[in-house]
Formats: sequence, structure tokens, C-alpha cells
Amino acid sequence: MKNLVTGGAGFLGSHLIEKLISSGEEVICLDNYFTGSKNNIEMHFSNPLFKFVEHDVIQPICLEVNRIWHLACPASPVHYQLNPIKTTQTSFLGTYNMLNLAKENKARILIASTSEVYGDPEIHPQPEDYRGSVNTFGIRACYDEGKRVAETLSFDFNRMHNVDIRIARIFNTYGPNMLPNDGRVISNFIVQALNAKPITIYGDGMQTRSFCYVSDLIKGLSSLMESNYKKPLNIGNPEEFKIIELAEMIKERINSKSSIIKKNLPEDDPLQRKPNISLANRILNWEPKISLHDGLNKTISYFKENLKI
Ligand code: NAD
Ligand code: UDP
Repeated sequence: MKNLVTGGAGFLGSHLIEKLISSGEEVICLDNYFTGSKNNIEMHFSNPLFKFVEHDVIQPICLEVNRIWHLACPASPVHYQLNPIKTTQTSFLGTYNMLNLAKENKARILIASTSEVYGDPEIHPQPEDYRGSVNTFGIRACYDEGKRVAETLSFDFNRMHNVDIRIARIFNTYGPNMLPNDGRVISNFIVQALNAKPITIYGDGMQTRSFCYVSDLIKGLSSLMESNYKKPLNIGNPEEFKIIELAEMIKERINSKSSIIKKNLPEDDPLQRKPNISLANRILNWEPKISLHDGLNKTISYFKENLKI
């Protein structure tokens, strides 16, 4: 298989590449290094199975591939809100260009969609047939609506041009290779706790998220790519935690002297999130195996080594 991984220098992309290369598959990694890092992929630079192309997905590109894993897009609210117009362009034009590339190559394409398509959900946990509650003009809309239109484009390329699509609705995922300044909650709390800096809870900390360890997520994505299932599929861990519980868990695990402080809740921050994964379980025979307890230990070790603490 000749794989194209867009966003391959990022958190999820680098783990996916690691898995593909270790299975003996060829990989072209395409990235513009916006939120990715050379450190995540440089171990493959001398491997003949690996090639890096520095490119922005909003521009078309010609490549010969059989599988496209389209992950390129900043995922942390801090980063996707830096230049929201660019985020919408990345989601729309990036996905459009990759779907055209899939069409030209008759390649199968997996699109990294998100639980954000459900917005601030009124239905809990979220099943795939829930149509969501997104504010079209809020500060998260560039990402949420961008991903919603990426799903729409994928279905229209499937209906009009028979492009072989897979759509993963990824829920909050964490693990090694996240940037220390990524801005997402688990990396923020770990880095703050390791540096004995205040742990910053946004709002009252009663909002919930459900966290999936990266190796479970990558197994889910790989099974979806191999399956014949073409509709959107939730991939995530249904164990749900309040953000305040997460802060206390991380502080305790690191035995940190950090205080826990409250900051303003960003606009449109979803109050609750938890995937219904019964469909993934039935279609892929997949479920996450790594508990938050074990996943946090692995992630803390990574940051300790990376930050030399
Ligand atoms: P990340 O920010 O770590 O990685 C994204 C990668 O895409 C980076 O390497 C970045 O440089 C690259 N990129 C961004 N814009 C680009 C552009 N215009 N052209 C080329 N490359 C570009 O994020 P991640 O957590 O690895 O997420 C990967 C994908 O999974 C994203 O599409 C994201 O929306 C989706 N997703 C992730 C999560 C999660 O919890 N990690 C949850 C839901 C969805
Ligand atoms: N959050 C927080 N402190 C931080 C970073 C995030 O309390 O330093 C909260 C954020 O407000 C949200 C949750 O943690 O309610 C998850 O945020 P993240 O940015 O990781 O992902 P989201 O699911 O919001 O896209």
C-alpha cells in the first residue's frame, strides 16, 4: 500500500505513520508544520518507505497513492482559533483537494472528522444519527462547521464520483507527541503540574469530556479504513470525566505542588461530551482498552522525558 498521511507531523498523524511503517507500508507524509513537529517524524527520514512533502493542503497536489488518511487541520481550539478563516479554508479546500486526489487515483480516503460536529450536544451520549447543535457564527464554528462541510463534501464525492470514503468522528484523544504548548486540556494540565505552575480550569470545571488514549484511537482508525463502512463512525472512549476531576487526578499522580485556579470559560465550550460507540463496536468489533489511569501514566512519562523534568 502507498499511503498519504496529511497532517502526518502532528499528534495523531505521527502515531499513524509509526504503525504503517512498522507494518512495512509506504508512507508519504504531507504537512505544513503549522501545529506539527519535525521531532515527531524525523526518525523515519532515512527509511526508504518514508517520504516527507512540505505542502499546504489548501493548494492542490499531484501524487500517486492508494490510501489517503486526511488528518491535516489544527485540532486544539487555541490553534484553530488563531486564524479562523484559514481553519475553514483548511477544512473545506484541504478536504476538497484530497477528495479530488482520491478520485484521480481511485484511492480510498479516510477523513478525520470530529465530535465537534455535535456542537454543544443536547443528546448524551452522542450517537452518529444525532445531528448536533452548532453555533454557526461562534468562535468554534470555523472548526465545527469546517468539519461538517468536510463530511458533506465527502458524501457528495461519493455520490457523484464514487469516491471510496471513510469518515471517523474522533472524540478527545491524548498521548505522547502532543506539543507542550498544544493548549488542549490534558497536555496543559500535565505541563502545568510538572512545572509546579497553576493548573488552569476554565469555568467551574463541571463540564465533561471522555478521553481516548492514542493507541486505541489508531487501532479504531485502521479498522475503519479496512472495513466497508462508509457512513460517519464515532471513535473514542466513553469513560466520562469532569474537568475538575481530571485536574485533581493529574495533580495527584504527579504529586505536584501546583494550585488549581479558575479562569473564564471560553465561548461555546461544550458542557458535556461522551461518544456512543455501539456502532463501532458492532461494525469494527472495536472498543478502547487503555484506561485514563494507564494512559495518563504513559503521557506523563513522555512529557517528563520531553521537558527534561
Ligand atoms: P495536530 O494539530 O497535532 O495535527 C494536525 C497536523 O496537521 C499538524 O501536523 C499540522 O501542521 C498539520 N496541518 C494543519 N493545517 C495544515 C494545512 N493547511 N496543510 C498541511 N498540514 C496542515 O492535531 P491532531 O490531534 O493530530 O488531529 C489530527 C486530525 O484529527 C485533525 O483533522 C483533527 O481535526 C482530528 N481530530 C483530532 C482529535 C484529537 O483529540 N486529537 C479529535 C477530533 C478530531
Ligand atoms: N480546559 C481547561 N483548562 C485548560 C484547557 C482546557 O479547563 O487549560 C477545558 C476546556 O474549557 C474544555 C475542556 O477542558 O471544557 C477540553 O478542552 P480541549 O481544548 O482539550 O478540547 P475541546 O474538547 O474543548 O475541543
